[in-house]
Amino acid sequence: MIKKNNIKLEKLIKYYSLINHNLVYANQAINRYKKNNYAYGSKGLELKKLKTSIENIKNCELKKNAANIVFCDGNPNSKIMIVGEAPGSNEDKEGYPFIGRAGKLLDKMLLSIKLSRENVYITNVVNYRPPENRRPSNDEIKKYLPYLIKHIEIVNPKILLLLGSTALNTIIGDKEVISKARGKWIEKKIGICKTSVIVSFHPAFLMRQPEQKKMAWIDLKMIRKKISELKIKIDK
Ligand code: URA
Repeated sequence: MIKKNNIKLEKLIKYYSLINHNLVYANQAINRYKKNNYAYGSKGLELKKLKTSIENIKNCELKKNAANIVFCDGNPNSKIMIVGEAPGSNEDKEGYPFIGRAGKLLDKMLLSIKLSRENVYITNVVNYRPPENRRPSNDEIKKYLPYLIKHIEIVNPKILLLLGSTALNTIIGDKEVISKARGKWIEKKIGICKTSVIVSFHPAFLMRQPEQKKMAWIDLKMIRKKISELKIKIDK
């Protein structure tokens, strides 16, 4: 028992040292999809088509004010997909999700369960930055929802991690509150994709409320456990 507790404590210390300190860790988008669209076969082509249809959305205030579309980062063949809220200013400039401060924390959180951008796939509820980094409006979310569903169908993840209440309310339902919904597996059919969904705190929220990192660690450990239960192969 003491030994088991010591191992738990060691892991907790390791997690904290990863997410609380300035670990030197390259936080650059990898976007293998963009580098080599066709290497992913029909998935690559479908993603390319989806990106084009988002670029062709008409009458969208978000799009009018944004510099770039922020479509995805990571590996489209991954069985683990992450959905955030919306691009911020760094993401808008570079065209990739989660590359600002919240993205740095996300990378550290992933690293704490031995994952990286190369073995997950990342997108957002909306693909253009809302002005002043405001939350996307309900109408904006509604407009982008069919594209998000299509995105999930194409990637077809076994595990879907929703970060923050916007992703939670968009995919699971309006009435959900994150403090109650986080840390549970929800078996869900999204379009034609059947997947295990887990909700956790958004990294930007964790930066404002660091005491909640301990809850995020519980969620991350659940993901690690699910990866082994589902025998998901993680490329090193
Ligand atoms: N926050 C998000 O939800 N998504 C990003 O891409 C960046 C910050």
